[in-house]
Amino acid sequence: MKNRILSRRKFVKQTGLISTMGFIPQALISGASYQNTFFNNKRNIFLSTDFISGGGEDLTVISNDPVTVRFKPHNEADGGWSQVWWYFMVDGLTPGEKITLQLDRDEPGSSGISPQIFFSYDQQLWGLTNTGRPAEIEGRDFFIYEHIVRSKKVWFAYDLPYTPDHIDELLLPAVKKDPDADVVELCKTKNNHSVKMFVFNDKNSLTEIKYGIWLQARSHAFESGASWVLHEMALWLMSGDPEAEALRRRASITVIPIVDVDGVIEGRTGKNQNPYDHNRGWDQEPAYWQQINSSKALLSSMADQNMPDMYIDFHGPGNSSHPYFIVPFEELLPTEKQRLNRSKFFETLKCKELDDQARLSQSMTQFYYSPRPWDKSASLINSRGWVTMNTTDHNIALTIEVNMNTPLSTRSGYRAEAIELGRAISGYFTNDYHQR
Ligand SMILES: [Zn+2]
Repeated sequence: MKNRILSRRKFVKQTGLISTMGFIPQALISGASYQNTFFNNKRNIFLSTDFISGGGEDLTVISNDPVTVRFKPHNEADGGWSQVWWYFMVDGLTPGEKITLQLDRDEPGSSGISPQIFFSYDQQLWGLTNTGRPAEIEGRDFFIYEHIVRSKKVWFAYDLPYTPDHIDELLLPAVKKDPDADVVELCKTKNNHSVKMFVFNDKNSLTEIKYGIWLQARSHAFESGASWVLHEMALWLMSGDPEAEALRRRASITVIPIVDVDGVIEGRTGKNQNPYDHNRGWDQEPAYWQQINSSKALLSSMADQNMPDMYIDFHGPGNSSHPYFIVPFEELLPTEKQRLNRSKFFETLKCKELDDQARLSQSMTQFYYSPRPWDKSASLINSRGWVTMNTTDHNIALTIEVNMNTPLSTRSGYRAEAIELGRAISGYFTNDYHQR
């Protein structure tokens, strides 16, 4: 019997669940004793990705004593950074027993590996497992995780999940209570899901200059940590913290926690998807994704009011060390004001240039920047590049890699990262460092 391969969509349509019996790989039924153990055991172990953001490929229970699950991340295109996300449920376990997860990262080979992964018994409260280890099994590259379960049912995920439900349940109620915060639909996705955007704009502010700030996350669906940082940033803006209030008096702030809503809901990796992902092709008219067209229209109308002053596109998974900005070398920025403003903002944030020494340590609150050459070839025009070239001559346009995949990369870690960044943005604008 050949090991069956089902896409998530097909698998959900056909079954909703996978039982152990239908998915035994040939390699594992060749050993007689193993085969007997397997078939004499009356247990049924079920796997499912049939829920929002559930994902992964070739999910297979290869043994139920000890319980061992083999799987691959969702593959958007050709492996590498297009093959990262997975999130599934295992049911039928006995509390106290060990489950082994075998993440198959061979051909074409996936890039993103979380040394520790997240587990939950209710999809609400999440913890980190012990650190996994690389292994070679049957000549293929794997990464192995082990976990002692404390429930019959357990969910495992590549990183801390963040879905549109988090926006609706944890962010919307706070926004609705805030008189100067509005929820707006940026657009619908190709699959008709709503892309929500929050606008913090104190209409009674008497400030002489009102700045414009645009913060968005999750152009790449698998980068859930990016949404968490922005989620915590939005909560901080509504927290009553004096620095948050000062910033809100001086700036109108737009927050989009999830750009690729379809990719997140469908449990896909999102990055490098065809014909290009949500952070590419920004120069095209019209762009392939409605999110890009709607964002460009809004950013262009902001430009008519001499905004945006700051634009940050939140990504991950960083480099397992610190949050850092990916930016062009300063001399490549087109205007002197952009160079001066970016430099002053980095100074306010106490942001340092990322080097090999910095990569040896970890934090959520020491920010770095990594300057690079700027490839302006059309198909590579990303959101940061488009904003730099097409809005104002004084904008600070940044891509940030939030710090995913470390033991600190939990919700409280992402909160610390958000507040540190928020306070620096507040200090930068309220001290009038920004030059228009
Ligand atoms: Zn990304």
